[in-house]
Amino acid sequence: MSFRNSPKGVRTTAIHAGEAPDPTTGASAPALHMSSTFVTDQVAGFSAHDLDADDSAFLYARWGNPTVAMLEQKIAALEGVEACLCTASGMAAASAIFFTFLSAGDHVVVSDVSYAGVAELARDTLPRWGIEVTLVDMSDLEAVAAAIRPNTKLVHTESPVNPIGRLTDLAAVAKLAHEAGALVSCDATFASPLGQNSAEMGVDLIMHSVTKYLGGHGDAVGGAVAGRADLIAQMRGEASIHHGGIMSPFNAWLIARGVATLPLRMKAHEASAMAVAEWLEAQPSVTRVIYPGLESHPQHGLAKRQMDNFSGMLSFQVGDRATSEAVAQKMIDRLETIHYAVSLGHHRSLIFWMGTEALMETSFRLEGKQLDSYREFAGDGVFRLSVGLEDSEDLIADLAQVL
Ligand SMILES: *Cc1c(COP(=O)(O)O)cnc(C)c1O
Repeated sequence: MSFRNSPKGVRTTAIHAGEAPDPTTGASAPALHMSSTFVTDQVAGFSAHDLDADDSAFLYARWGNPTVAMLEQKIAALEGVEACLCTASGMAAASAIFFTFLSAGDHVVVSDVSYAGVAELARDTLPRWGIEVTLVDMSDLEAVAAAIRPNTKLVHTESPVNPIGRLTDLAAVAKLAHEAGALVSCDATFASPLGQNSAEMGVDLIMHSVTKYLGGHGDAVGGAVAGRADLIAQMRGEASIHHGGIMSPFNAWLIARGVATLPLRMKAHEASAMAVAEWLEAQPSVTRVIYPGLESHPQHGLAKRQMDNFSGMLSFQVGDRATSEAVAQKMIDRLETIHYAVSLGHHRSLIFWMGTEALMETSFRLEGKQLDSYREFAGDGVFRLSVGLEDSEDLIADLAQVL
């Protein structure tokens, strides 16, 4: 019954971790502490360098806030790790990892397909700071091994990867990175903490856009990185206190409310996504469906081994670019239940067309073997569908009138 490091089950952990009834008022629900500063009874220094990891007292919101700390403890408990840092957005979480653990002269290996913002940050920004970047197909272990150098400090991957649903063998990549003395970070936004036990497979820094499944309701932006206490303390000193991208207490409060139902929601997302994916596979107009839970997923064996929940993210193709763009326009005009919009992981279903050519120009710029691997999953482009919590019959009926 116990879940990862928690003595309680997963549902109990999601609801109660980080929370306790208020000792003065008895309030059962966690408080929303909209306070930027905290009255202190200690004569202490005023610098990130004076931050004492064991000191739970609050000083100023950029160091920590009780409502944000409550969410951080909840996410750490779900990931089965010691600590967590919440950030202003998922991108702030990615920046926190890169700018805490990399310096000029260091080398980082990054998945050649990743969330577009992360791909652009890695490819365009990190080299300006003197950080060497190698972009590799993380499903190709030989390529990962070949990319690692003596000055490689970090290997950053994403599994399943947005938007094409390709997986990384996390245990294998972590082993390669650790043998070289590098840290491993994984953007696990698509999987959610319940989709895979990233820490057990050796991931040091587990990153989420909590805007997505953890918040779950499409009303708050935030990010998180979970891992060992010493690594998270280092990130808090750099990314929060110095770079300043902290999460607002109000967003933490909303997101914690979402996390309480995460185990129930992920089951429902998975069940609906499976039903929709199977229906899509049977449609003559649909060329290809990619969902880790389908036997037709090129890495279904790895998915079964590595994932505990296949999540609600699927992608599908409907032929070439012209055909797809016509279908996208039909979706914009006719869909009633599913919203034609970016983002994912919400109770509302969301769909968005992502053309391969356009993404290659703006974000990925792949060639040769790496482009072939991308196209194996995405063809000329994919409809990325985030299957929400509506009745799957209604989602299928909505898709049936445009496909
Ligand atoms: C959305 C997303 C991000 C960025 O998160 P924001 O909260 O929008 O900044 C990063 N990684 C993945 C996989 C995402 O889907």
